[in-house]
Amino acid sequence: AKSAGRNNYQFFAADMNQIATERLDIERKLRHAISRNELALVYQPQFRADGSRPTGVEALLRWHHPVDGMISPDRFIPVAEETGMIVEIGDWVMLTACREMKHWIDSGLPPLRVAVNVSARQLRRRDFCETVAGALAESGLPAELLELEITESSVMENPQEAIHILQRLGRMGISLAIDDFGTGYSSLAYLKLFPIDHLKIDRSFVRDIEHDLNDRAIAFGTIALAHSLGLNVIAEGVETEDQLELLRSNGCDEVQGYLFSKPLNNAGAFAFLHAAERA
Ligand code: C2E
Ligand code: CA
Ligand code: CA
Ligand code: CA
Repeated sequence: AKSAGRNNYQFFAADMNQIATERLDIERKLRHAISRNELALVYQPQFRADGSRPTGVEALLRWHHPVDGMISPDRFIPVAEETGMIVEIGDWVMLTACREMKHWIDSGLPPLRVAVNVSARQLRRRDFCETVAGALAESGLPAELLELEITESSVMENPQEAIHILQRLGRMGISLAIDDFGTGYSSLAYLKLFPIDHLKIDRSFVRDIEHDLNDRAIAFGTIALAHSLGLNVIAEGVETEDQLELLRSNGCDEVQGYLFSKPLNNAGAFAFLHAAERA
């Protein structure tokens, strides 16, 4: 038993070593990603739950490395957060998303909301509000068309501080969404104090909503809670008609997922939204 234990430890150590090496490799390459033009945004449309029309898009970051190919955000965002690189990358995302939406509107698309993911690390910076204001000023995008998606866990890290920042952003006219709702724990008392517009139900509760009664209870409970606080609900990860029907008939306001569209590159998103508006 002892030697088996030691073997396990050796495997574990080797795994950890490999993980550490991979992280260092990602970190080293990520440092040049912006200057070498390797980052791009894709956009996933969000719809009214009755499917009638698009309400906005979520901007999602993509990293195309010339040798390694596509590197998934789930692999590099955590590294960017740990090293602090997420601040520079996040600034780039914010400005690029505002510019691209403004460009679409200038090219004839009716005004739509663009949602940008914000990490805890960005939110904690004292100049965050100025950075957002700068992106709006530089792009010319009206503040009402920008939504910031902030995860439940990053808000709950320091709710007292978050309230001040979110209230400032709210006063600027920006809309706010609580992302990955249900995966952390929120104090309902705080939720009421945040100037939030949307709660986003995490994909993990939508995936098995047809069969898993706990997931269903959480999703429906979130909708009821949100509505009682005067908030709209977006469900993410909607892939089937049955999921859509369950969510829609229980009052979910907006939906996002492969059933409607995968995330699309700039030209693809513009064409998709243009066609959806004319339909
Ligand atoms: P998230 O904010 O929860 O984004 C939703 C994720 O679900 C996206 O993955 C999206 O492509 C995926 N998704 C949407 N609909 C469906 C569906 O119907 N089925 C399935 N299987 N997946 C669906 P993605 O683009 O890989 O992003 C993963 C995570 O990386 C995001 O989760 C977010 O936490 C983070 N992320 C992406 N872009 C940024 C960014 O610009 N800044 C920051 N801080 N984080 C980002
Ligand atoms: Ca999000
Ligand atoms: Ca608002
Ligand atoms: Ca999510």
